[in-house]
Amino acid sequence: MNQLLLAVDTSGRPSRWLTWQDAVTQDVLGKISYGFGDFEFTFKGGVNRFTGRESQITLKSILVIASQSPVRWHSSSIPLSNSALFRRDRNMCAYCGKVAFREMTRDHITPLSKGGKDTWLNCCTCCAACNAKKDAFSLEQIGWELLYLPYAPTHQEGLILQNRRILFDQMELLRASLPKHSRVLELN
Ligand SMILES: [Zn+2]
Repeated sequence: MNQLLLAVDTSGRPSRWLTWQDAVTQDVLGKISYGFGDFEFTFKGGVNRFTGRESQITLKSILVIASQSPVRWHSSSIPLSNSALFRRDRNMCAYCGKVAFREMTRDHITPLSKGGKDTWLNCCTCCAACNAKKDAFSLEQIGWELLYLPYAPTHQEGLILQNRRILFDQMELLRASLPKHSRVLELN
C-alpha cells in the first residue's frame, strides 16, 4: 500500500505523514489516541500459532498521535526535496516558463560556488537547457530574471508538497490549516 496516513497532534494540527508500517508501529506502541477520516485501511499481521487466528489492525486515514517530540512549525521543518520543489513551482522552469514533468532540475539562484545556500528561498525549478546555460552564473551576470518568486513553505504547505496522493479527507484538514493567501492552494 502506497497510501500515506496523516498524523495530527492532539490540538488537531497535521504534523507528518506516516507509512502504513510507521502507523502500525505507532498503534502497537499504543501511541495512537484515536483515528478519524472517511477511509479505513486494514493490515493483516501474522498468525498466532496457539489460536490459529490472524491478527489484523484497522486504521483510519487521519490519526491523532500524542507526540513526544513537539513538531517544529517553522518553515525549514519540511526538508527540501526535488519532488516537493518541482511541485511548489508547478513544474515550471523559473527562467523560460517551460512546463515539464521530466528532466527538471534544482537550480540554486545564487550558485553554491558564490555562497548561495541549498534552501527553499534560493532554489527554483529549472529545465535542463536553462540550467546548462545558467551554469555557475548569478542572475545579474547572465541578465536573467525569475518568472516567479520562490517561497519557503510553512509546515502545513510542506506536507501538501510532500505527498502526491493525498486523500480527500486529509486534504480538507490540511487546507483548513493554510493561510488564505497560500500559493499551495493554487495547486491542482
Ligand atoms: Zn528553462
